[in-house]
Amino acid sequence: MTRSLEGKVAVITGAGSGIGRGCARRLAEDKAAIAVWDLNPDGAAETVSLIESEGGKAIAITADCADKAAIKAAADETRAKLGPVSILVNNAGIAPFTAFTDIEDDEFDKVIRINLRGPWLVTKELVGDMLAAKWGRIINITSSSTQTGSPMQSHYVASKGGLFGLTKALALELGKTGITVNLIPPGSIDTPMLRGAPIDGDAYGATLPVGRLGKVEDIAAACAFLASEEASYFTGQTMSVNGGRYMGSA
Ligand code: NAD
Repeated sequence: MTRSLEGKVAVITGAGSGIGRGCARRLAEDKAAIAVWDLNPDGAAETVSLIESEGGKAIAITADCADKAAIKAAADETRAKLGPVSILVNNAGIAPFTAFTDIEDDEFDKVIRINLRGPWLVTKELVGDMLAAKWGRIINITSSSTQTGSPMQSHYVASKGGLFGLTKALALELGKTGITVNLIPPGSIDTPMLRGAPIDGDAYGATLPVGRLGKVEDIAAACAFLASEEASYFTGQTMSVNGGRYMGSA
C-alpha cells in the first residue's frame, strides 16, 4: 500500500508557524497539495516558500479560521486553485495563561471561538468535499493538557476538551463514509507558542521520560500516518505524541 498523498488536497489551519508548518511540510513531502490557512500572511507565505523550495506544491491563504465568512472564502479559493479538499488538519489555536479568577468573559469566549468553534466551522465547510469523494481525513490537534490538566489554562483545556468530544462524535457519525476523524494531543513541542509560555521549556523537556522537548517533526510524522491510506481502520483515536509525559489507560 502506498503512503503517497498524490492527488490529495490538504487544508492545514495555523500552518504559518510551528506544528502546522511542520505538518504542512511533511504532507507536501508525501505529495499532497497544501493550502496553508493562517491569520498571519507573512508566516503563511514563508511556509509556502519552504514547501516550494523542497519541491512541493502549496498556496497561502490569509484567513481567520474562526470566522465563518473568511472560512467560506478560504475554502472557495482553495477549491478553485487546488481542487476539492480531502485532508483537514485543524491546528490553529491560541493558548493564553491566566488565573481562573482573572479570566474575563471575553477572554474565555475568544479561546473557545478559535480553538473549538473554529475547527467546528472549518470541518463543516469542508466535509462535503470528503463526503462527495467517499474519502477523507480529519486530524484535530488538541493538547496533552486535556489528559493531565494544566494550571492557568482552564479556558484552553476546556476548549481542547471540547475538540476531543467533537472528534469522537464525528468519528462515529462519519464512520461508514470513508472519512476518519482522529486527534493528536501534543505534549510540549518546541514552537513559538511554547517559547512564549511562562515556563522554562528546556528545563521542562529534560524532566520528561524521553528527556527533551518535542519537535514539530514528531507531530508531523503522526499527522502523515493519520492522513495516509494505511490509517483507514484508525478512527476516533487519540495519538498521544508527548515523549511519555502522559501514558493513557489501556
Ligand atoms: P504557534 O503559535 O507557533 O502557531 C499557531 C499558528 O496559528 C500561528 O501561525 C497563528 O497565526 C495561527 N492562528 C492563531 N489563531 C488563528 C486564527 N484564528 N485563524 C488562523 N490562524 C490562526 O503554535 P503551535 O505551538 O504550533 O501550536 C499549534 C497547535 O498545537 C495549537 O492548536 C496549540 O494549542 C497546539 N498545541 C501546541 C503545543 C506546544 O507545545 N507547542 C502543545 C499542545 C498543543
